[in-house]
Amino acid sequence: MRVILLGPPGSGKGTQADLIQQNYGFPKISTGDLLRSEVEKGTELGKMVNDQMKAGQLVSDDLVLRLVAERISSDDCRSGYVLDGFPRTLSQGLLLENLEDNRQETVFEFKVTEREILQRLAGRQVCLQCGAVYNANNNKPQSDGLCDICGSRLVVRDDDRPEVIKERIRLYQENIAPLIMYYSRRNLLFEINGEDLAENIFKVIKDVLARRLAEDKEH
Ligand SMILES: [Zn+2]
Repeated sequence: MRVILLGPPGSGKGTQADLIQQNYGFPKISTGDLLRSEVEKGTELGKMVNDQMKAGQLVSDDLVLRLVAERISSDDCRSGYVLDGFPRTLSQGLLLENLEDNRQETVFEFKVTEREILQRLAGRQVCLQCGAVYNANNNKPQSDGLCDICGSRLVVRDDDRPEVIKERIRLYQENIAPLIMYYSRRNLLFEINGEDLAENIFKVIKDVLARRLAEDKEH
């Protein structure tokens, strides 16, 4: 089983990827993590990734796909895995399918209004010293503007400013639309109300996966 989670930044798909990993043993594969770890390890591929990122380019489909291909061929992915943040475009989706065309696929699309995303992300403050993340809405630091863990001053990352978030959402929607259409035509797409509570969302996901896994056994 290949589980694909699609959703804009702040849609809560990372949380669900973690829950699927814990409950089904399907490793969570985030391309962001794969890229970072490759750069840290200083591999040949990591150097190419680093060069592209330094030049301000998006990392090419080809490189991302090589990393994903390597990761999903590991033993722990044999019965299934969850992709978080990949594919982001129709062409990536097609490349992924060519890579592994015999695996059953289930796609969840997380729907969240722009207003809700802004609310979730705009209140975010991070500690540059230790990496802790706080949120003015639901996870406030004990003293305003200071990190609970190390006492450093908290900052709002550029990525979390409203104008930047709006632009990220717009780009996401533009890129993802053809991919959504493609999965939907093949009846692989299940919509998720990303504004529901995480536990309710996970119930929906479990129901869908139970049905899909049973279908797979019949074949
Ligand atoms: Zn800190």
